[in-house]
Amino acid sequence: MTHEQEWDEEYDVIVVGSGGGALTGAYLAARAGLDTVVVERTGRLGGTSSYSGGAMWLPGSPVQRRDGVPDSTESARTYLRALLDDSAEAKLETFLAQAPALVERLEQDPALTFTFQAFPDYYERPGRVPGGRSFVPRALDPAELGDDLLALIRPPLDRDRAGQDHDTSAPLTAGRALIGRLLLAYHRTGHGAVTTDTVMDELAATPRRVTGILATRQGRRIRIGARRGVLLAAGGFEHNERLRGVHGVPGRSDCSMAPAGTNLGEPVEAAVALGAATDLMHEGWWCPGVRMPDGRPAFVCGFTGGLVVDANGSRYANESLPYDRFGREIQAEPDRTPSFVVYDSRTGGRLPAVTQPPWGDPSAHLDSGTLVKADTLEELAGILGVDAGRLTATVARFNSFADNGKDEEFAREADEFGHWFGDPVLRPVREAPYYAARIVLSDLGTKGGLVTDTSARVLREDGTPIAGLYAAGNTSASFTGPFYPGPGIPLGTAMLFASRATADMSA
Ligand SMILES: Cc1cc2nc3c(=O)[nH]c(=O)nc-3n(C[C@H](O)[C@H](O)[C@H](O)COP(=O)(O)OP(=O)(O)OC[C@H]3O[C@@H](n4cnc5c(N)ncnc54)[C@H](O)[C@@H]3O)c2cc1C
Repeated sequence: MTHEQEWDEEYDVIVVGSGGGALTGAYLAARAGLDTVVVERTGRLGGTSSYSGGAMWLPGSPVQRRDGVPDSTESARTYLRALLDDSAEAKLETFLAQAPALVERLEQDPALTFTFQAFPDYYERPGRVPGGRSFVPRALDPAELGDDLLALIRPPLDRDRAGQDHDTSAPLTAGRALIGRLLLAYHRTGHGAVTTDTVMDELAATPRRVTGILATRQGRRIRIGARRGVLLAAGGFEHNERLRGVHGVPGRSDCSMAPAGTNLGEPVEAAVALGAATDLMHEGWWCPGVRMPDGRPAFVCGFTGGLVVDANGSRYANESLPYDRFGREIQAEPDRTPSFVVYDSRTGGRLPAVTQPPWGDPSAHLDSGTLVKADTLEELAGILGVDAGRLTATVARFNSFADNGKDEEFAREADEFGHWFGDPVLRPVREAPYYAARIVLSDLGTKGGLVTDTSARVLREDGTPIAGLYAAGNTSASFTGPFYPGPGIPLGTAMLFASRATADMSA
């Protein structure tokens, strides 16, 4: 524990991290007149939030009403209660009660405008509404941001991973639009500072409260004081292989979708050093990942052809499951890593699915070995090291389902989510040559972390709050437990609980 000391800089509020939750908290603090600083470890703002679709699951708001979506707080409650257990009750009710007001407050700012974008919720449960209930930020003209703010925002996922330039005159969309809009609004308050390339790894505290952070900026140790509080909204620990091992998180750090160089989990460790409790530390927001030529996986969903088999050549799940649910199916047995998506020539070799970043040209995959091709299924099985008899039998059975339009094994045709990406969802695999691409477990981030209360205050093991310390987003344990109820839950909950932290600090 570090005691009161001389600060290099001092603010009312320190926000560590710069994703959707962090910038919502920072913006609302600055809008309330509190001098605020956003502390970001990398050179760019936005983290995984900037890679995201920008979907926000904040039910019962004016956005859904404007677009005539049959959403309400009551139907969202019915839906979440059908999924989550009683331990989620207090957070769930706070989330539902505060979501409409948060969206109304944000939309009072001309920089923050949202629109409904249909994408189904992830479970067939009471309270699910057709087309889902999440919404996205409107696209943002970079001219509105200006060059200085634009330069702070992480490039799009496909460019960022490949290290290529991108068209900086193109409108910012999805997660980048969210980060851009929040940054613009934050900047316009006149109370918001940003410091990049600054890694926070320690909390400063008196015996009574957290008073600031210690960080390293360009090799120099700095101490930043916080008169009101510190909000840790710095992602999970998905890129920290050691912590993944300690907590038994399935998958691997180099298979995570989080941007390189982000999210190593020091903020969680710093809070634990002050006595903070943690929960759900083995959990993540999962997805299947298809191997790319750069060696890392791409987030894959929305299969419109092919089938997925395990190392034995057997199918094990509905390929059209929402991605977190498919990721959990991969984890269920060791012989599902890697799995193989097997498809035929009707797509010209292109993967019959949606990926982030884009999967690209089949020839690049064939050259790098991330895609294999054969004239017969037996030959394909030989290359993959899969039992040829089992694979041909699996494909024959799948083809009979496809011919009849009914998946007798896993009901792939049954759910709205599967049809979202194209129809029919079942296509036979019988036109040579045949292809197979490797599927591994990937994640959008870990979802276990600091235990917080309904005001996002970080709690000790005995349930008492650590004064001056708050957490939101993947730095905190999600109240959704092992469920990913719908698109926009990570961002929606991060934003909501960051706003609760700011409200507590402003009180
Ligand atoms: C392709 C894709 C699409 C997705 N689409 C959606 C969607 O539409 N809706 C949705 O809700 N979710 C979506 N997700 C998931 C979602 O993006 C993440 O779960 C969420 O953004 C995590 O937010 P966060 O604030 O916790 O972390 P991040 O957004 O990752 O932000 C954390 C930031 O903190 C910084 N940081 C970390 N450690 C430190 C430190 N010690 N000091 C200073 N800074 C630090 C990091 O560098 C990073 O910039 C998607 C994910 C992917 C990959």
